[in-house]
Amino acid sequence: MFNANADIFSALAAAIPEGVLIVDKQQKIITVNAATNTMFSYSDNELEGQELQLLIPKRFRAGHRPVFNAFVHEAERRQMGKGRDLFGVRKTGEEFPVEVGLSPFEVAGETYVIALLIDITERKKVEREILELNTKLEAKVRERTKELQDSIAELRSEVSLRKQAESRALESLKKERELNELKTKFLSLVSHEFKTPLSGILTSTVLVGKYRQEEQQPQREKHLELIKNKVHYLNGILNDFLSLERLESGKVNYRFSSFLLSKPLNEVIYNANVLLKSGQKINYPDNADDVTLYFDEKILELILTNLIGNAIKYSPADTTIDIRITGEEEKVILKVIDQGIGIPKEDQKYIFQRYFRAENVLNDQGTGIGLNIIKGHLDELGGTISFSSIPQKGSTFTVEIPTKLADKHEAYPID
Ligand code: ADP
Repeated sequence: MFNANADIFSALAAAIPEGVLIVDKQQKIITVNAATNTMFSYSDNELEGQELQLLIPKRFRAGHRPVFNAFVHEAERRQMGKGRDLFGVRKTGEEFPVEVGLSPFEVAGETYVIALLIDITERKKVEREILELNTKLEAKVRERTKELQDSIAELRSEVSLRKQAESRALESLKKERELNELKTKFLSLVSHEFKTPLSGILTSTVLVGKYRQEEQQPQREKHLELIKNKVHYLNGILNDFLSLERLESGKVNYRFSSFLLSKPLNEVIYNANVLLKSGQKINYPDNADDVTLYFDEKILELILTNLIGNAIKYSPADTTIDIRITGEEEKVILKVIDQGIGIPKEDQKYIFQRYFRAENVLNDQGTGIGLNIIKGHLDELGGTISFSSIPQKGSTFTVEIPTKLADKHEAYPID
């Protein structure tokens, strides 16, 4: 039946470069074209009548038959092996990749399948080469990207190091400038602030020398008292500046110990007595002996000296200065209350600024650094300072001392 058209088939098949192969339902090879013989290394007429399995590598044969049967059954035209690689085997036993297009057809009630075969060894080789090249390229790209990322990271860390160094340099430059400014300010303050007390001291010493009579003892004592007072004042300014310089240069070494609040308070009030104006008195808190602090005693002394000194300085004669102590959870609150000149409303917001002095005190002596220092220390130690003031009525300065230390200051064990 099929043979009747064999000539037409041969003519057609010879004209196409692909392999053409026809099998019957039982997978027997009916005919092939020359291209198929060349592809599978067989001579003319050698394949006709053979099993199709002959052209399939042994390891695929078992799986091939059911697939073929299902295909013939469904009888549709399609490409075989979509999505997976198919292989043929040459007479020499050499395997090669092959692309197979199949279409079933019927002649006189018999089903046949015509297969169009293309040897894709070359294509696969090229594909593999492209794949290899791509993989190599990808690896190269990955490597280069990593190198780039590494360089960027290196650059970044270099930039950040440079920035850190720059900001450190700027910081120390700023500190140096501030210290220089402080020194200049100190010199001008010393020449200004020290002049009056020093000439007072000089006058008093000259006068003390002149009171030679026994009964002139009260005059002598008055001048000695004046001298003591002025020396205290000058010493206070020097202490403030020293404290400021330490704060500025970051050289403060706080020394913590536990002590009764009454200890520094007594010391400060004792020294302040020489500063009291006539009729001025300090109300001492009766609970100072009940409060134990764990703090820097010298710093607390500095704070109290400044606050009590100011209360005396900025209050007229015959007024009272109250010192009150209250304890709260995790803090002790200290208040210094005076009945003095107060702070003008418009000046209140500048009061903790360095060198600031309110316009109602410009005739009094002072440097405007005491409160600034107190605030500096308290900020460092986790405490606070605040005030309320009514001009002509008086001021209240409130200091809160933490009973737990600020984190950055390591606690020493209390014994
Ligand atoms: P100084 O007293 O040397 O001027 P301070 O830093 O101690 O410097 O105080 C800053 C300013 O705050 C003072 O010049 C004054 O104007 C104001 N001041 C401080 N304490 C009082 C107070 N108890 N009563 C009125 N004014 C005060």
